[in-house]
Amino acid sequence: MKKSTLTKLICLAILCIMVLPLVMACGQKFTVYFDANGGELKEGEDERKVKSGEMIGALPTPTKEGYKFMGWYEEEDTNQEDRIKKTTMVAFNMVLVAKWEFNDNLVSVEFDANGGEIAKDVVYIDKGTTLGNLLVDPTRADGATFEGWFDAKNNKVTKTTKISSPIVLKAKWIEPVLCSNGTYTHNWTIWDYEASEPTCTQDGKAVRLCQDCGHREEKVGTEKLGHDYATGWTFGQMQQSRLCDRCNREEVVKYTNLSTKIKETVITGSVYGPENVNCLYNDNWTETFGTTFAGKGGAVTVDVTFKEATEVDCVFIKGTGSNGYVLSVLYAGDTDYTVLTETGAFGDVAQRYAIDGTITNARIEMANSGDGGSYWQELAFADVPEIEE
Ligand SMILES: [Zn+2]
Ligand SMILES: [Zn+2]
Repeated sequence: MKKSTLTKLICLAILCIMVLPLVMACGQKFTVYFDANGGELKEGEDERKVKSGEMIGALPTPTKEGYKFMGWYEEEDTNQEDRIKKTTMVAFNMVLVAKWEFNDNLVSVEFDANGGEIAKDVVYIDKGTTLGNLLVDPTRADGATFEGWFDAKNNKVTKTTKISSPIVLKAKWIEPVLCSNGTYTHNWTIWDYEASEPTCTQDGKAVRLCQDCGHREEKVGTEKLGHDYATGWTFGQMQQSRLCDRCNREEVVKYTNLSTKIKETVITGSVYGPENVNCLYNDNWTETFGTTFAGKGGAVTVDVTFKEATEVDCVFIKGTGSNGYVLSVLYAGDTDYTVLTETGAFGDVAQRYAIDGTITNARIEMANSGDGGSYWQELAFADVPEIEE
């Protein structure tokens, strides 16, 4: 064959390859395949025929548990602008891949049926919500009794358990016991829910017995009651406490002393002179109280300055003097002091005043105690921890 003939043939072949698809394209149909990429599509949604040059049309929406669907793409990990739209023209066979993004607001709950059967072995729920009806009993064909779902620490999980991080739950089973009647089907009495009464912290039990073989089964009867704090809080010095009306358990919430946030305590105004007034603030913290000051009679003002604006929930004052006092605080950003009490009276038990704000200073103005017997007073600023009711 001559070289020129070969060249002509090659040219013709190339021409055919280029032109043929264009000719064929008129009225030709292409197939668009949808790859759910680990998700699920409804039946019949995984492929469609589209005429050449026409729009692809409304796209199916697949689902994948725990993920948000981010659209269809020709390849994985492509950019948003490459997202296939319903107006995208089809000019060849296409495989579209679903893009997924993990939904951060969801947590997984995995079920290990432990020899039993369960419809779904993983579900996803919103962080911090309860399982509710997603908690389903598994089944076992051999007559074993399902005892419940348990977490890794062997705590029983119920529909009201809040889930805030991924968790694996394991089914517990009570193995079947052969009855004297030769089967695994016992001749049960009805459940006796009063078999044991619940307490504040322990579930009551329900019990049933087999009337043939005497086999006994137990389950939760009445759920534990929880403590009954209806009587409410008693406020003490740097703490509050309450008693359970049922079991007498005492719950104590200790406050945090904010004395280390104080920069200085300055005492002025004693008619007996400053030499008779000692500020014992620096190193004389007692266990419950923050700062101790002492004076000898006369009208005395105690000025407390914090190192910086400090969130304070309440202040306590205790003392042995007979004089009354005015207690004020300076809220951060204010120019005038806010009076907490004008009629304070010292006693053996600390007086408690709510502050509930950010303060920079506090001031106690004591009235003249007459002939000026010595007195000792104590002062504490407290941070009350968050209390769960
Ligand atoms: Zn039996
Ligand atoms: Zn109790």
